[in-house]
Amino acid sequence: MQTLSKSRFVSGNQCEKKLYFDVYRKELRRPVSPEQQALFDTGHQLGALAQLVFGGGRDATTDMNSKWGVAIERTRQWLSEGVTTIYEATFSVPGGFAALDILHHADGERWAIEVKSSTSVKEYHLTDASFQYFVMKKAGFAPDKVFLMHINNKYVKQEEIDPTLLFHLEDITEQVLSNQPFVAQQHAALIEMLSAAAEPQKDIGKHCGKPFSCDYMHHCWAHLPENNIFDLSNARGKDWLLYKQGIYSLSDVPDDFPLNHRQELQVSGVKNNAQHIDVAKIKDFLSTFEAPLYFFDFETINPALPVLDGTRPFEQVPFQYSLHITDLAGNVIEHREFLASPEDFSDVNKTDPRLQLIRHLKSVVGEGGTMVAYNAPFEKTILKALAVSFEQEKAFIDSLIDRFADLLTPFSSGWYYKPEMGASASIKSVLPAIAPEFSYKELPIGNGGLASSTFHDIITKKLTGEKNTTTRDLLAYCERDTEGMVVIYRHLVDLVRE
Ligand code: SF4
Repeated sequence: MQTLSKSRFVSGNQCEKKLYFDVYRKELRRPVSPEQQALFDTGHQLGALAQLVFGGGRDATTDMNSKWGVAIERTRQWLSEGVTTIYEATFSVPGGFAALDILHHADGERWAIEVKSSTSVKEYHLTDASFQYFVMKKAGFAPDKVFLMHINNKYVKQEEIDPTLLFHLEDITEQVLSNQPFVAQQHAALIEMLSAAAEPQKDIGKHCGKPFSCDYMHHCWAHLPENNIFDLSNARGKDWLLYKQGIYSLSDVPDDFPLNHRQELQVSGVKNNAQHIDVAKIKDFLSTFEAPLYFFDFETINPALPVLDGTRPFEQVPFQYSLHITDLAGNVIEHREFLASPEDFSDVNKTDPRLQLIRHLKSVVGEGGTMVAYNAPFEKTILKALAVSFEQEKAFIDSLIDRFADLLTPFSSGWYYKPEMGASASIKSVLPAIAPEFSYKELPIGNGGLASSTFHDIITKKLTGEKNTTTRDLLAYCERDTEGMVVIYRHLVDLVRE
């Protein structure tokens, strides 16, 4: 008989075919990305911190090199000895296996505690905790209470992280108990499916992205052509409506199918290779710009475990910016940039790196001129948060926020569309469509997620590469963003002039 762990149970709950692949076709699984690996690492770090909340426990997995039989035996032994707290307490029954983050005894009760790196309880957390309970009960060790220990998003770091304040303990016993009939039924169904050892006939659907983006999408979605209906911009269910009608390619979307303006441009782009440019609207938009122009971009980190005093879990903390200063024609006058010193994130005697960044920015942006960002709400949100954290710079930041224009607008509003942009109006799609020679492909750091995780690796001393080279790569990436904005702006100016 196959054995289900909580992750396999959650997998099967999302899609039985996914579970089948997990068990029988592991080679199909998408390799772990650096971003996923960073999440796993954070999970391990949080797990270790959570153990400190229930300190002095014994770890059933220590020095056992994945030999779960030893962990199961130790758990049994320690429970019979009355050990108060066991980390990775492990239970096994026919068809089921559970390794619990923390098993704790208090006030004559047995508590099962699962640690999660989110800031609230999600539906799938309840599913996996319900499965843990199901196995523990079958093994004869039903807990009296089940808790989820998730991150308290109100926690503000000051010096060393205080795990007792970082985590919030939420009692989910009631939901777990009411889920038991479902878990028993689903467990039996999944075991039966695995015993049959035949790949389930399951079509793709919304379940492929919920609760997780499935690791087998490249396999199951391979029948879809390039420019398919799932590329439709802001589809809001129209993609699935078309799929159910057997329409896969955007070039096959019927002419009378209801589409909004942006979607019409996209479908017409695929069908007729047609571009659309509304010069009058772009001209109106550009007429609001005032010289000098400051093309501006932030890079941020938002770690689950705050790294800087005064910040909360998952708070966006800017560490870098790039600024191209141009005249109204888009001629570059100057390029300025800032990259925080990683050491300043841990040295309490140094000025907060965010404050250093604001002061640096203040010294290079004059009192007039338009600040140009791509997707300006992001930059404005970061600045608003900085205004709250640094009251002394609030007046400057508020005046800066009022000067922003969003270069995304002509593209997201459908005033400018080229088929090469596909569904996206992001700078990574627009820039190559306008200036194919400008790409991010040759850059060692070519996207914001990688810039963020790289800087986080530097400050947490996990960087494997050479620090000076990495610093240069970070600066080059952020500079490419604002340089790209200038290229796009100049293209629009030329269009309007023509
Ligand atoms: S891609 Fe979709 S259908 Fe395929 S295994 Fe994953 S969830 Fe199931």
